[in-house]
This record gives sequence, C-alpha cells and structure tokens, in this order.
Amino acid sequence: MFKALAGRTVIVTGGSKGIGRGIAQRFGAAGLNVLVVARSLADAERVAGEIGPHASGFSADVTQVEDCQAFAAAALERYGRIDVLCANAGIFPAAKLDVMTGADFDLVMNTNMKGTFLSVQAVLGAMKARRWGRIVLTSSITGPVTGFPGWSHYGASKAAQLGFMRTAAIELAPWGITMNAVMPGNIRTEGLDGLGADYIAKMEASIPFKRLGGVEDIANAALFFASEEAGYVTGQGMVIDGGQILPESLGALEEMGSAD
Ligand code: NAP
Repeated sequence: MFKALAGRTVIVTGGSKGIGRGIAQRFGAAGLNVLVVARSLADAERVAGEIGPHASGFSADVTQVEDCQAFAAAALERYGRIDVLCANAGIFPAAKLDVMTGADFDLVMNTNMKGTFLSVQAVLGAMKARRWGRIVLTSSITGPVTGFPGWSHYGASKAAQLGFMRTAAIELAPWGITMNAVMPGNIRTEGLDGLGADYIAKMEASIPFKRLGGVEDIANAALFFASEEAGYVTGQGMVIDGGQILPESLGALEEMGSAD
C-alpha cells in the first residue's frame, strides 16, 4: 500500500528509550537509516545495535543549539541526507503548583518545547535542499486535550508544541516539508513505569480499551506521517490513546459493559 522509505534517513531524538526507541525500531525495520539521539551515548548506541548496521547512536542534549546542529551534521556525514525528523525527546517530572519552582518550569519547557524548536531548526537546511521532509513531533493528550495535577508545566509544553507546529507547517509548506504530531495517551515506557503501579492501574481502568498503549502504536502513526502518501497532511495532531479522552464521566466507563 505504501511506497518504501527504505534508504532514507530518520533522526529520532529521545530514541534510546520508550516511545522514541519504538519509533527508531519501527523506522529501522522499514529500511531507513536511523540516527538514535539521546544524552546517554551508551543507551543510544545500544538501541542502534538492536536495529542493525544502518543505525547508529549520537549523544546530544536537545536543549543545546550546538548539540542539535551536531546531530544534524552527524546524520549528513554518516548517511548523506535527512528525510525525517522525529522530535520526540521529552521529560515529565511532576510538581504541583504550590511547590513548582521556576527552575522546574524552565527545565520542562526547555526540553519539551525549546528542544523541539532547536531540533527542527537543525534539520531544515538539509530538508529544504531536497525540497522534501517529514517532521513528526511527539506531543501528548496531556495539555492539548486533558489535564492531570502535577503536570501544568508539562501540559503547557505539549500544547505549545502544537501551537509551534501550526505556524511552522505553513512556513515549511513551500519546500514540501510537512510537520505533524502524534498525541499519545498513556504508553508503557521506562518513563511511565517510573510513575508507579498505582498510577498505571488507575490509568488502565480509565481507558475504554482497559490497557495502556504500546510504543508500536505510536511508532505506526509516526511512520504514517513520514510516508510519501501522507504528503498532503500537515499541521495536524493524531490522538492515539485507546479511547482515553472519550468518556465524559466515570459513569460512561461503567455503562460501556464488556464483550463477555
Ligand atoms: P522516556 O521513556 O523517559 O524516554 C525519554 C527519552 O528522551 C530518552 O531517550 C532520553 O534519553 C531522552 N531525553 C530526555 N531528555 C533529553 C534531552 N534533554 N536531550 C536529548 N534526549 C533527551 O520517555 P517516553 O515515555 O518514551 O516519552 C517520550 C516522549 O513521549 C516525550 O516527549 C513525552 O512527553 C511523550 N509522551 C509520552 C507518553 C507516555 O505515556 N509515555 C504519553 C504522551 C506523550 P537520555 O535521558 O539519555 O537523554
């Protein structure tokens, strides 16, 4: 159904764990060269090793402009082209408003929003030169659609990514570059596991599918946005959440019944 992307190159920030690792593996299986970016070189190289010889790791902190320029340069040097950027690196430390510091706020915004901007800016030269590019942001349902106590800064950063995207997509349209966003619900990752078993059990109960998503659910959506066939889709977010944002109350979940 889809034309092959084999031989093209994708950069996945935050590609060493969780959703980013799932994206890197999915794109690697589709035959793309994969640059796995994370601050930990060992973690990035481990995932690259899992993918195969057409993948490699690179250490970069997306909050630093020089680091973002460096990962783009590395992709060009190693693979000769940059076709797809998955700007996925992100953090979600919880802090309620009464204890949140300015430093807490800055760290989340700098990583999730400024890191997205710097990563995108770093690849534009290579994409514009080919007059083709696919940029896929990892946003969230938290912020753009829903809220959760402790994550006001995180929600702001994830909504900000969508605001950034809507204008950037217009600016990039003349070069055949699209920008879209995956908006995951609760996906089983190292980062999410850190929130604890109680959080996970309550979250599973609130999802119509009664389970958290897998990283492959997000990776498949990212691969669609990266495809040739999605070339007329830009500036859009896709919610992938097992129906999590749909129930308007606990009653809606109680009334849904079961298949038994
Ligand atoms: P994770 O398991 O904690 O993995 C985070 C990844 O980002 C790691 O590879 C980490 O590697 C990298 N990273 C963090 N800060 C970085 C920085 N400053 N520079 C470069 N890389 C950095 O997280 P996840 O759950 O997969 O989440 C990934 C993305 O999905 C985030 O944007 C998150 O907001 C979003 N998301 C997740 C969920 C979910 O349920 N899991 C739901 C909605 C949205 P290093 O630590 O080595 O840098």
